[in-house]
Amino acid sequence: MVQQSDNSQIYSSKPIVMIGECMMELSQYGDDKFHKGFAGDTFNSSVYMKRAFEQLNVNFMSCIGSDTVSTQLLDMLQLEGLDNRFIEVDEKRIMGAYMVQTDNQGERSFLYWRNDSAAKLLMQNLSKNAEQALQDCQLIFFSGITLAILNDNDRAQLLHMLCRLRNKGVNIAFDPNYRPALWENEKVAQNAIGQGFQVANILLPGMEDFELFGLRQRQQIVKFLNSCGFDELIIKDGSKSVFGYSSDACCEVQVAPNPAVIDTTSAGDAFAGVYLGARILGLDMKSAIEKAAAVAKEVTNHRGSIMPQEKFKNFWKGYKAA
Ligand code: ADP
Repeated sequence: MVQQSDNSQIYSSKPIVMIGECMMELSQYGDDKFHKGFAGDTFNSSVYMKRAFEQLNVNFMSCIGSDTVSTQLLDMLQLEGLDNRFIEVDEKRIMGAYMVQTDNQGERSFLYWRNDSAAKLLMQNLSKNAEQALQDCQLIFFSGITLAILNDNDRAQLLHMLCRLRNKGVNIAFDPNYRPALWENEKVAQNAIGQGFQVANILLPGMEDFELFGLRQRQQIVKFLNSCGFDELIIKDGSKSVFGYSSDACCEVQVAPNPAVIDTTSAGDAFAGVYLGARILGLDMKSAIEKAAAVAKEVTNHRGSIMPQEKFKNFWKGYKAA
């Protein structure tokens, strides 16, 4: 990734765009009582990137409806300081939703209503000037979930567009976030995620993502990804460690495991947002991993995808002061 530390103020004002789906999140907190929020992997990353680095120009790109929930998402984007100029609207569709239920033993289960969500039609609703505007970005982030929700044709279109943008010098970051339930079959997933690895120059996979390719050893994974030609590769190994590879550096950061995890949902998303933001602002790979891991660990202390804004502010202030 291109880094700029001397004039990071100018550099950091160039847009960063996170592409994907945001859904209404309903989390159960009592008998038939639910808290309403918003969540989705790349959306979560954009929130945590902006919270950690307010000087960055962070955009969330998706397609929503014109329903009341979609409008509330726009309010939330504003509240979080996220730019909405890459949000498209499909008048005929509404946002997707999911419910997190917790049983008497504390086991969580998820129910999704996303098959007909507006986000699935992002490519069909893309503004004519969207690609032009994306050329001015310094970084675009997408995930395997971004790819999974699109039909074959739209997915190919998105990948082609990202490929053209990368050829024009835009950094493209990718987290495979493999979710078997979202894919028609393993072959389709392998093909699409494999293309994601090739289109991006910054890769942020977790070890578990490679079960799709039958790979379990880190060395095998690095060898496999080397053939895709990345500039930077970060491999997350859950609560154990994180490995970083680039052409001129290689590092391992031990994760300090949280002894009292409440919920690991979105830890990886927060990691990606903070890691990428830190790198854009000129931090070296190891320091960026350390920051990202610290935020991801804090996220595991809270239920749901997006921890309360005030709690994040207090944590981050304390972390930076330490
Ligand atoms: P992904 O699904 O993207 O692989 P993980 O669940 O592996 O995400 O977690 C992403 C990051 O969150 C890890 O690299 C680590 O930094 C942090 N993390 C996850 N689980 C824990 C934990 N139990 N304690 C501390 N940090 C954690």
